[in-house]
Amino acid sequence: MKRIAILGSTGSIGTQALEVIAAHPSNFEVSLLTAHNNADLLISQAILFSPNTVVISNEDYYLQVKDALAHLPIKVFAGSNAIEQCVGSDDIDIVLTAQVGFSGLRPTIAAIQSGKTIALANKETLVVAGDYISSLCVKHNVKIIPVDSEHSAIFQCLVGEYNSPIEKIVLTASGGPFRGKTRSELELVTKSQALKHPNWTMGAKITIDSASLMNKALEIIEAKWLFGLDANQIDVIVHPQSIIHSLVQFNDGSMKAQMGLPDMKLPIHYSFTYPERISTTFPRFDFLHYPQLTFELPDKVTFRSLAFAYYCLQEGGNMACIMNAANEEANAAFLNDKIKFLQIFDIVEGAMERATFIAKPTLNDYYESDAEARIWAKKLIK
Ligand code: NDP
Ligand code: MG
Repeated sequence: MKRIAILGSTGSIGTQALEVIAAHPSNFEVSLLTAHNNADLLISQAILFSPNTVVISNEDYYLQVKDALAHLPIKVFAGSNAIEQCVGSDDIDIVLTAQVGFSGLRPTIAAIQSGKTIALANKETLVVAGDYISSLCVKHNVKIIPVDSEHSAIFQCLVGEYNSPIEKIVLTASGGPFRGKTRSELELVTKSQALKHPNWTMGAKITIDSASLMNKALEIIEAKWLFGLDANQIDVIVHPQSIIHSLVQFNDGSMKAQMGLPDMKLPIHYSFTYPERISTTFPRFDFLHYPQLTFELPDKVTFRSLAFAYYCLQEGGNMACIMNAANEEANAAFLNDKIKFLQIFDIVEGAMERATFIAKPTLNDYYESDAEARIWAKKLIK
């Protein structure tokens, strides 16, 4: 029995994780659920899954959650600090980090410091502070199991290959809803078009990031830290069907790929069962439904995000932290109809040019850089 904490249980990854857990009651149980605003869903999840503890990080909803669960033996806390405090509890084996954005960093650090295995969905944690997180994992002997489908694919390809030198990895990208669009066509695209991802149903932030290819930019940096790679070992290929989830090429030229239908439940499930595989009833891939798997180069000129990611890897330091913060602001501004789609790239680039570069940041520097980059991004949004 693995005891699981889900940080962000009301989101796209969080709700799918609970489906995985519900399908395997003799393998998994829920110890901790956390949410930010969605008190109603958190309450119904708590009633269904009986965790020991729930945390609502927006304190405005504390009394609502506390009253609704008062008849049950469930501890209720509120506030972001409470997530950090609860994540180290003895009744937790695996922490699934499914909060969105920079908010995932502090609780992930607390979970690592408590020696918990991390099932990492919150890629922003590694983008912001990959070097700090990597050394913290070594210090506390903690394993990070990737949940992001591309990184789960690579992780699965590397099982049994621990001593095999990697020549490169290839991250696949669906291309998102705007694949093939020219710059002038992108001038006019709307929020509702950007939110229509062709293959995946996900939270709003990552869906916009997929449309701008910022998601792939974040994943390039995530891959660097997860697999200890240099920038020239990380390629991106557009694969519109999202069946091959990513590939590894070893130094003898052999390539391994992991395939399957685009369904996040599989990488979530694997992150819980690793190193074992446990049977599932997920729909199976059928080659005859996909007679053509196609591949094309990403349009790096129109979608400048990929260039930003490689620039971050080249510069190191806090550059990726700056990129991430500016992107979070630009993404939210686009979702709030404050900017046009193409401005996302200008705002991220503008913040990267203006925010203070720190070559060897401490953890505190990362917090400060995040705040500074958001100020620059907000100035550019106005
Ligand atoms: P959602 O927006 O669907 O869910 C986000 C979750 O985080 C919700 O539970 C939300 O709570 C909570 N949350 C939001 N803001 C805060 C905050 N400030 N403090 C604490 N909790 C907060 O996101 P996704 O599930 O799509 O994505 C979660 C993470 O997983 C992201 O980092 C994303 O990049 C990554 N990921 C997602 C994939 C997907 O398919 N969705 C695929 C690969 C990676 P509430 O709803 O209660 O407000
Ligand atoms: Mg992904």
